[in-house]
Amino acid sequence: MKQKTITKDVSLSGTGLHTGQKGTLTFHPAEANHGIKFRRVDVEGMPIVEARVENVVDTSRGTTIAQNGVRVYTVEHILASLRGADVDNVLIDIDCEEPPIQDGSAKYMLAALKSAGIVEQEAEREYLRVKTPVTYFHPKIGCEITIKPADDFRMEVEVDYNSQVLKPQSAVLKNMADFEKEISPCRTFVFFQELEMLLKHNLIKGGDLSTAIVFVEDVVPAGELQRVAKLFNMESVGIHQGGILNNTTLHFENEPARHKLLDLIGDMALLGKPILGHVKAFKPGHLANTEFVKLIIDNLE
Ligand SMILES: [Zn+2]
Repeated sequence: MKQKTITKDVSLSGTGLHTGQKGTLTFHPAEANHGIKFRRVDVEGMPIVEARVENVVDTSRGTTIAQNGVRVYTVEHILASLRGADVDNVLIDIDCEEPPIQDGSAKYMLAALKSAGIVEQEAEREYLRVKTPVTYFHPKIGCEITIKPADDFRMEVEVDYNSQVLKPQSAVLKNMADFEKEISPCRTFVFFQELEMLLKHNLIKGGDLSTAIVFVEDVVPAGELQRVAKLFNMESVGIHQGGILNNTTLHFENEPARHKLLDLIGDMALLGKPILGHVKAFKPGHLANTEFVKLIIDNLE
């Protein structure tokens, strides 16, 4: 297997989920062994922020990386789309702190990368491997992620939020070739109560959430629903059977578990190189994912 990059520049614009900033991402081809790097073109000197786990500075609402105090928020969906496109080397210009959320999936980014064209490079691709099974366990969250040595890559994710509307569910990716169709369109989701808290603390800017999946656990007074709906520019608002806000429907019955798988693929790209092995995760999240990546690095073959 050879390393790959894109054949020409490709750009995407939109609004960041948490900052509400409008921004543009431009992917540029990069030489072999370059890896995935961001370049903050809006900051003096256009500093580079490498997509590596040692640069993770925050995992509270997405994975944020920083180098020399310069941040790039919510990198996981970009990294997942690069993995899905099988791209090793790329320089990503970004003109704000947070990349556009788009529909909360990796679908459009992956499509953009593929439209630019993917090309093999001279250099061989090196795959990482673990010596023995590696497990990360977080007793408080109840999260557990394991990778077992293998000659191929596959991933299985199970979630359980102790919720009546978001039932325990799992998702499987047997081959990265299935990522585009099975995983990349799966959107991020949020519980209504969590959404209210985020809005109240100004941690999320409305308007761009028109396609997000919102699970409503408890009975919510109509006035409260309308107030939130207004913030998100939704006209009439109600709740589907199954507890989902009626601005959208699920692409897959287990779309939330598939999205968690997407996030884990993206966070594991912070290893810097693709890895072989079988990954099994229960209740993954960005904190656990990135701690898991660090543990893998300590146990590489
Ligand atoms: Zn995500």
